[in-house]
Amino acid sequence: MLDLTPKEVSERKALRINPLKTCQPVGAIYAALGVHNCMPHSHGSQGCCSFHRMFLTRHFKEPAIAASSSFTEGASVFGGGSNLKTAIKNIFEIYNPDIIAVHTTCLSETIGDDLVTYITDAKIPEGKIVVHTNTPSYVGSHVTGYSNMIVGLINYLSQNTGEKNGKLALFPGFVNPGDMREMKKIMTLMGVEYTMLPDTSGVMDAPMTGTYNMYPKGGTKVDDIKDLGNCELSIGLGEITSIAPAEFLEKKCKVPFQSLPLPIGVELTDQFVMSLNHFSKNEVPYALEEERGQLVDILLDSHQYTQNKKVAIYGDPDTVLGLAAFALEMGMIPKYLTTGTPGKDFEANAQALFEKFGVEDCVAKSNVDLFLLQQWIKNDGVDLLIGGTHGKFLAKAEDIPFVRAGFPILDRYVHSYLPLVGYKGGMRLAEMILSALMDRQDRDCEDEDMEMIM
Ligand code: SF4
Repeated sequence: MLDLTPKEVSERKALRINPLKTCQPVGAIYAALGVHNCMPHSHGSQGCCSFHRMFLTRHFKEPAIAASSSFTEGASVFGGGSNLKTAIKNIFEIYNPDIIAVHTTCLSETIGDDLVTYITDAKIPEGKIVVHTNTPSYVGSHVTGYSNMIVGLINYLSQNTGEKNGKLALFPGFVNPGDMREMKKIMTLMGVEYTMLPDTSGVMDAPMTGTYNMYPKGGTKVDDIKDLGNCELSIGLGEITSIAPAEFLEKKCKVPFQSLPLPIGVELTDQFVMSLNHFSKNEVPYALEEERGQLVDILLDSHQYTQNKKVAIYGDPDTVLGLAAFALEMGMIPKYLTTGTPGKDFEANAQALFEKFGVEDCVAKSNVDLFLLQQWIKNDGVDLLIGGTHGKFLAKAEDIPFVRAGFPILDRYVHSYLPLVGYKGGMRLAEMILSALMDRQDRDCEDEDMEMIM
């Protein structure tokens, strides 16, 4: 299917082929689903909302609820105010959430709908809440929309009452419920009291009970979001994704913040654990030390299969940077790092990583597509490809071992339940990477070189 991609790279400014991102509302809905008893609401046409829900459902294999303002020609010309007010009334009457989290779409942004006025004028039942954020999809990506929705929730809800609550506010980055569970496990082991926003564990990985529950047990409680303003400190995991909410909470409620990379691999998990240690003043428990030692042991035992292997990694910026740091810890060379999300921080952070590990001839680029990555690979190949499902066509065309990691993964199961973060996530990643490389060795070797014990 991708066999016709030319080797020669020519400059393209306004065309993306096989893009490495999706639109802002996908992230905004995902963030809103991480709030307990929340109905995400798409202020635009039904087609947008259907696409966003479908995209999330295909990755998580779970229902992704969201309502729509259902724009038709009339709303597109005269504005969607009456659509939104009717929607708010109907949603509270029929679906009874505690909170509706509204995000905009390209259409409502282009006509300039004034969401603050619409929401102020809407009839909101006593004790219920409506918040909003702006998510024009011609800016940023799903990662931007995710971050914007968290800022929107803080903007409407969080308050500094002057009484500290002793808690840590954690912004987990654009990660799976399995990662969020791992982060919570680490914080609990470190004896840290926390509020995590959003928390999609227990929502997008809810168990089968035999009864459909529109609002599963998980999600950050509205009262906890209000209380974020009283936290002692916030940590934003994922320096690109979580910086906006952390900065906004500091600006609005004077909560100081630390910005850390996603805790993928040994050193980046160490950084997270040590930040928790400084916050709580609690010793690192043996359970975490043991996991760390196991991960280091695995990397030592298996390094001969990964040393100097060249890898191309693509996907969301913070995930790619975390995966690259772990690849370097495995002795691999992250030859190509790409993301579809615009922003120069990705390239600067990747460059710092290359310099730290002293690797040369590696390239990192933001706001690019898989077409370009394939062209690079055609010119100078790699031993492994890591990223979401869209790369499987590239992996097939170029015959490269492929590890699925990140977002979206549309053609496999279980991935969202298990972590990439933390020492446990590192073990899982190491297993996936090693299995891909060793399967390839078994496939390609001569019969007489086939090893039983590796
Ligand atoms: S019109 Fe905009 S918001 Fe709607 S699906 Fe397309 S990119 Fe997303």
